[in-house]
Parts: sequence; C-alpha cells; structure tokens
Amino acid sequence: MAVVGLYFIGLVFGGDIADPNIMILYVTIAVVAFTFVLLTLTRMRRGIRIGAYTPVKVLSIVKCGQCSFKQIKNFAIGDFVFKTLGKCTQCTTGDLTINGIYTEGPPKK
Ligand SMILES: [Zn+2]
Repeated sequence: MAVVGLYFIGLVFGGDIADPNIMILYVTIAVVAFTFVLLTLTRMRRGIRIGAYTPVKVLSIVKCGQCSFKQIKNFAIGDFVFKTLGKCTQCTTGDLTINGIYTEGPPKK
C-alpha cells in the first residue's frame, strides 16, 4: 500500500520530495484515500449483489386429487389456494388444484 502511495506521489510531484515529513504526510493521505475508495467499491459491489437477488420468487404448488402428480409453477395473478386448474395431465380424471403458495427468498450465504 505504501509503495503504491509513494509511486502515486512520485507521479504527481515528479519524484522530487526532499522533506521526509511531507512525504509521510502525503503517504498517509494517499493510504487513507485508497482505503476510502476500496471501501466504497466494496460497499457498491455488495449493494449490486443484494439488488440482483432481491426479486422474490412466488411459486404455486399444484397437486392432483387422484394421483400423485405434483407440480410447482410460477405464481400467476389470480392464483389462490384450492383453485381448480382443470384436469390432470397424467391420470386425466383428477382435478388439479393449487395446494399452496409460497415465496422463495434470496439464497442464504
Ligand atoms: Zn392425476
């Protein structure tokens, strides 16, 4: 870090720093500035990551009353528990009903 700071100061001031006290001051400022930038970048990246996972998935559990057919589909507007969706595609006699609606939150780390 200090080496990077020195290099940076060398670029800005043309490598002509005679007073070691001034040099230490500049290095301190450079280190503080770099730390601040790094912290800001880390916080920004974390914010973006949280934002990407924020949309919560709403899923409906569809079950057949006659056979063991079970399906999980994306929740659609108008879906409610015990709503009949029509005949089962497997046994063709049972009625498909929504058995439950649940949300899938962001993955836990
Ligand atoms: Zn069925």
